[in-house]
Amino acid sequence: MVTFLGAGPGDPELMTLKGAKALQTADVVIYAGSLVNPALLGLCKTGCAVYNSAEMTLEQVLARMEEAHRAGQSVVRLHTGDPSLYGAIREQMDGLRALEIPYTIIPGVSSFSGAAAAVEGEYTLPNVSQSVIITRLAGRTPVPEEEALSSLAQHGCTMVLFLSAGMLDRVQTELLKGAYTETTPAALVYKATWPEEKVVRCPLGKLAETGRTHGITRTALVLVGDFLGDSYERSKLYDPAFTTGYREGTP
Ligand code: SAH
Repeated sequence: MVTFLGAGPGDPELMTLKGAKALQTADVVIYAGSLVNPALLGLCKTGCAVYNSAEMTLEQVLARMEEAHRAGQSVVRLHTGDPSLYGAIREQMDGLRALEIPYTIIPGVSSFSGAAAAVEGEYTLPNVSQSVIITRLAGRTPVPEEEALSSLAQHGCTMVLFLSAGMLDRVQTELLKGAYTETTPAALVYKATWPEEKVVRCPLGKLAETGRTHGITRTALVLVGDFLGDSYERSKLYDPAFTTGYREGTP
């Protein structure tokens, strides 16, 4: 059995209990060395074989998995955050299916949740934004044309950008082609939930400059939107005048 496991954003205590159990019992662990907190590997049992996938190709990862599986060993494939976001797990799952090797997935806390906690923010504020766009700027991995940042920016809703901290000039330019303005609040969250976490807030018009000043070029998320501002409406859910399925409202 191969278990795809979300390691969480950094803080080892943010892995799920189920994930920790899988890691503690694994015979083989293949971890995404570029981002997974190595402290998590401390959970591995003695004798566990550990491989860093940053130095491997998809073929090599699959070969390791197959070898271990055929030898009756359990494999954990440790991905940063939640594996469903920019985790390249689909190609691994398809590879395993072709090899008739069973797999399972244990989700993790994504860095976009870690970043919200870091800024003490709520992405979906009433009367501010009820949608979150998770995207990235095209780099060496292209983004479909219909999802160009400037066009997603037309909505002006809460936006979280992965894998883009090294291209803040372009991020800023593209976002300003949409509904955001120079004064729309933005934040850079570097290494959310790690001991070296850094949160820098600025207006969107100063995003690139702020990134340069603070030397943030990688392992960071860009958060944009008025959810980072001060105005919003109270929720209906906890409004005394509002009746819900669990509580009678009083006018
Ligand atoms: N599956 C991961 C994302 C992997 S893509 C998740 O759910 O979080 C790698 C990108 O994620 C990085 O370039 C960075 O933009 C972001 N990232 C990962 N961990 C981070 C963290 N602790 N703080 C800020 N950004 C992080």
